[in-house]
Amino acid sequence: MLEGRVAIVTGAGGGIGSAIARRLASSGAKIVVNDLDEPAAQAVAAEVEALGREAMVNAGSVADLAAMEAMVAGALERWGTVDIMVNNAGITRDSLLLKMTEEQWDLVIAVHLRGAFCCTKAVTRPMMKQRYGRIINVASVVGVMGSPGQANYSAAKGGIIALTKTTARELAGRNITCNAVAPGFIETRMTEALGPAVREEYLSRIPLGRPGLPEDVANVIHFLASPDADYITGQVIHIDGGMVM
Ligand code: NAP
Repeated sequence: MLEGRVAIVTGAGGGIGSAIARRLASSGAKIVVNDLDEPAAQAVAAEVEALGREAMVNAGSVADLAAMEAMVAGALERWGTVDIMVNNAGITRDSLLLKMTEEQWDLVIAVHLRGAFCCTKAVTRPMMKQRYGRIINVASVVGVMGSPGQANYSAAKGGIIALTKTTARELAGRNITCNAVAPGFIETRMTEALGPAVREEYLSRIPLGRPGLPEDVANVIHFLASPDADYITGQVIHIDGGMVM
């Protein structure tokens, strides 16, 4: 379904990002594998190549606009087009508000919210020129419902949802769609770091009775990137086993 398309996936060395890169590649896309962790990005690029697709590695920070513009220019130079942008890179620096430092606040907002802005801005001009683009932002259920100990992260994710809707409205006239996914509790390194009590509390709130897998998220992102989703824009799709409804 994505034969000939070029996709950039940020944070693609991580749990969800690597599953997205593999899913889009298995559908035919060429992939720019972006991650600050360069060896992790290289390993995922090798997996993409093993699927018979081309890959490029980029180790720039999503919060660095010039680096993201250079990444997009590199993809355009090699492949001539940039069709799909998946803003997935992320970090957590959890702390209750009372104890949260300015550094913890600034860093999480910079990677998630500024990062999504920089990457979206970097692809906007080429996508407008080619009159085609699929931008998919990875938000979170906590951007909708809040989460104690995650003021920085939940504010960033809520901001990403608002950014998604504005991007969708601004770019719709050029056949560029922008949607967000809001995963719930997905088994990755990010959720491994949560203590057993928080984990149990999350699991008790999932009607489908199991944590999500990175592939559950990757499948929906593949759908949003595919022609089947051509008439969908500005939406937030929850991938959370029914946690938020
Ligand atoms: P992960 O395994 O930690 O992957 C995140 C990746 O992003 C890491 O490889 C990380 O590299 C990279 N990264 C961090 N800062 C970056 C930057 N400035 N530029 C480029 N790459 C950067 O976490 P994940 O669970 O797959 O999360 C992926 C996305 O899903 C995140 O946006 C997260 O907020 C969202 N999400 C996750 C869950 C969940 O339950 N896991 C739920 C809802 C939403 P380093 O290793 O070098 O930091």
